[in-house]
Amino acid sequence: SLHNTILELKGNIRVFCRVRPLLPDEGCSTEGKIISYPTSMEAAGRGIELTQSGQKHSFTFDKVFAPDASQEEVFIEISQLVQSALDGYKVCIFAYGQTGSGKTYTMMGRPGQPEEKGLIPRSLEQIFQTRQALQAQGWKYELQVSMLEIYNETIRDLLSTNKSSDAARVENGTPGSGKQYAIKHDANKNTHVSDLTVVDVQSVKEVAFLLNQAANSRSVGKTQMNEQSSRSHFVFTLRIYGVNESTDQQVQGILNLIDLAGSERLSKSGSTGDRLKETQAINKSLSSLSDVIFALAKKDDHIPFRNSKLTYLLQPCLGGDSKTLMFVNISPDQSSTGESLCSLRFASRVN
Ligand code: ADP
Ligand code: MG
Repeated sequence: SLHNTILELKGNIRVFCRVRPLLPDEGCSTEGKIISYPTSMEAAGRGIELTQSGQKHSFTFDKVFAPDASQEEVFIEISQLVQSALDGYKVCIFAYGQTGSGKTYTMMGRPGQPEEKGLIPRSLEQIFQTRQALQAQGWKYELQVSMLEIYNETIRDLLSTNKSSDAARVENGTPGSGKQYAIKHDANKNTHVSDLTVVDVQSVKEVAFLLNQAANSRSVGKTQMNEQSSRSHFVFTLRIYGVNESTDQQVQGILNLIDLAGSERLSKSGSTGDRLKETQAINKSLSSLSDVIFALAKKDDHIPFRNSKLTYLLQPCLGGDSKTLMFVNISPDQSSTGESLCSLRFASRVN
């Protein structure tokens, strides 16, 4: 099956599943009944089972994180992948799941709780620390950050200082600021997005400031645009340029950290108008992503990168010798069983 193919490609494409804890207002636990997974981090395994209407569905992933897995424990499992970006690899880490399943928690963490910071801040800390350590060996690194949102198949620059016109552009679907955000790939397999703000960064603090700016830019959209943040993909990109002054070696790595739009099946909720358009755009880009990963895992000749903005943007960072990790975030409450099953199926592509 494809799933076994994906597992054989270990090192290139991996899938981790993370089940979040029940939230205080989710009284009805299904633990041990509807959904079962490793009971503790010590027992961290690869299997997860979900029972729906008396039928048991079993899935295997590269790793399954139980609800008690801490952010630190999760980061330990990806730190090598982050390191490989400094070695010149192109890396993508996605968070996939329904709204409320823990994607943003996994990526960003809980605001104001340093213990609970997520993969993005932890990755940056590691990269800046390693950069410091490698200076002794003659390495000099330049780091550049960009952050964008893809909403209704339209790119929105989250670090643009010209926010109002960008927001108008998204709302009307017309170029308010005249910015194109056209995606181009050059001969060296580098992606260029025209007009996108790219910022040189020297410290974790500077990136934290930019992340904050991006979050504000998103939340402006949130009130204006019907909780846009769960309806759009957030793409954080760190470009790494390393030169060793004593050996003349050069490396160029990229780390993309992507908080995907909520995967809930909205088509069944009878959406119309703008909502329907949104839904179609999300469905299209999430299924394109799955098609691309599926085709890569099967080593198809034709990989359908062009079917969505997201896959086209990330094309140079998917496939080849690049590395991809998909987190499938799962809500443990009973009312999420249907969506959880869909997410697990998406991730394993077992239909
Ligand atoms: P999403 O981004 O998928 O919509 P969130 O990351 O916002 O979901 O998570 C929904 C809620 O669950 C938030 O209140 C978040 O703090 C909480 N949460 C998610 N994952 C965890 C976790 N592993 N541990 C503790 N709380 C979590
Ligand atoms: Mg979120």
